[in-house]
Amino acid sequence: MHGEGDERWALRVDRRRAEETRQALIGRGLLDREHRPRSEGESLLLPLTAEVPGAEPAIFVPFPQRDDLARHELVGGIAIMQEEDRAAAETILASRPSLHTVVFPTGPVAGEFRTREFRVLAGEPTTRTVVTEHGHRFAVDLAHAYFSARLSTERQRVRSMMAAGERVCDMFAGVGPFAISLAGGASLVVAADLNPAAVSLMCENIRMNRCRNVLPVLADAAHLPGVFSRTFDRVVMNLPMESAHFLRAAFALCRPGGTIHYYALQEDEGAYLDLIGTFPAAAVAERRVRSYSPGEWHAVYDIAVGE
Ligand code: SAM
Repeated sequence: MHGEGDERWALRVDRRRAEETRQALIGRGLLDREHRPRSEGESLLLPLTAEVPGAEPAIFVPFPQRDDLARHELVGGIAIMQEEDRAAAETILASRPSLHTVVFPTGPVAGEFRTREFRVLAGEPTTRTVVTEHGHRFAVDLAHAYFSARLSTERQRVRSMMAAGERVCDMFAGVGPFAISLAGGASLVVAADLNPAAVSLMCENIRMNRCRNVLPVLADAAHLPGVFSRTFDRVVMNLPMESAHFLRAAFALCRPGGTIHYYALQEDEGAYLDLIGTFPAAAVAERRVRSYSPGEWHAVYDIAVGE
């Protein structure tokens, strides 16, 4: 170990073709992922786990140990910290090659669009990134449209319940993660949102994921029954604080025998069963999706719609 780093075998590659070589080395288990690659002019030095033809010795700085990092959540190439600590942000940024920005939320998730403001603590001054989730890619902008990576398992659960060729309505679609995740099993997905920035990102995501059956709609979900009839097999209602106001619209969109996924934030089990009972529900199954704050959790009610 030298003062400035560790000596390792290195492969010198042209920076423009470095990613190709990096992937090939990963495939052969030869890339040393504990050390940070190093730039030298037009070349990039990639650290190796073993000597290969053409390798040369070089000094590399180790990535910081992930266990020592301040608490943060990853959304694509952005780390969201829980504390405003610029030095810790620089360490987080250096810990993963895939990160381009570290931010700190300066306010709560708020307003109709469910967005929040951020301060960039390290890296590129942007709140935009691309998230990869179960084979799909989503362009997101944390400051301008809601996105939660924590719902990826829930999206797959709903996808696994679908029969081929369903007609789906996502009433509060955001940048389209539910709509696009469900599109593979659907004949049509109508995906509405009130936030123009969310719908614009959704259009980008529809193109990026080559979805030909997702119809983005800039609209208030309350107006959807005036345009679409009661023909949807599945309706997704992910507006946890306000969904109750839109249950009537959801029942006006979902056909008898179809399913409504009603998301809510609650402190008591079954908090919304009485309300749901005022509509023609044939059966209701309630599940915890994730905890939200101490004593409060994000629940989903899968409602089988009756006549
Ligand atoms: N389903 C998306 C997801 O999982 O990432 C977004 C969910 S986010 C909690 C709720 C979304 O509903 C926001 O994008 C917000 O702009 C949108 N929204 C709020 N009120 C609405 C309304 N009346 N009609 C349509 N969309 C609305």
